[in-house]
Amino acid sequence: MNRRKFLGYVGCGCCNIILTSCGTVPITDRRQLQLIPESKLNAQAAAIYEKVKKKEKLSDDTKTLNKIIEIGKKIEDAISEYFYKTSVPDPTVNFDWEYILIDNKKMKNAWCMPGGKIAIYTGMLEITKNDNGLAAVMGHEIAHAVAKHSVERASRSMVINLGTQIADIASGGKISQANRATGGSIGLLTQIGIFNPFNRKQESEADYLGLIFSSLSGFDIRETVKIWERMQKANKGKELAEFMSTHPSSANRIKKINDWVNGIILDYPPIKVN
Ligand SMILES: [Zn+2]
Repeated sequence: MNRRKFLGYVGCGCCNIILTSCGTVPITDRRQLQLIPESKLNAQAAAIYEKVKKKEKLSDDTKTLNKIIEIGKKIEDAISEYFYKTSVPDPTVNFDWEYILIDNKKMKNAWCMPGGKIAIYTGMLEITKNDNGLAAVMGHEIAHAVAKHSVERASRSMVINLGTQIADIASGGKISQANRATGGSIGLLTQIGIFNPFNRKQESEADYLGLIFSSLSGFDIRETVKIWERMQKANKGKELAEFMSTHPSSANRIKKINDWVNGIILDYPPIKVN
């Protein structure tokens, strides 16, 4: 599997809005809009992460938390080593990695904020089941952060908002009035977009890069397909798995992951970290 094949699957979306504000996602080489500085988003995320730590009940299961940290550390090191070895600037150089385990069995969710602030909810552990499963989910979430998907999303919405303002003037402020009427109360995590789904291209890219990062870290990425199958099964129950609402799974998604697995195992074997 090479990147050309990946682009064949995902398609190359070039930024045709403001060409000078484009960046490139490492490995996939997809161009993306980067109007907002990463440092700004990372700082915002870190502040929100601190609030989340105070607001949520953190698990006292230190054994599982240590396991999460251990897996995370392997992924961190493998990513940095890979970019070092391929002479590509390490996209995680400004990350300040941190991991929490939130005690909430009902939440089947996990996320990674810009800058490497990670949370796993205890409910997610029923889906991940083992180290390879945990690495699959963490690899995917970390991939969103490494590919700077939040920077891209915030940049896009900035462009859309500019457009809205222009439309607003033309429509005599009716859009603004409607927005005020519906109220603008947003939760802590929605401020940084944690519960907003990424677009399909970004999801697919996070699947692809997540597989690569987990494989480089020495995990068995064949577990990834099983995770998605367990997720779909859990989703059929009474409670909707939150992970599924932001990561809509489909037969097509699972098929793509399955198609990538063997090639990635060959092309991105476990990397030796010095
Ligand atoms: Zn995702």
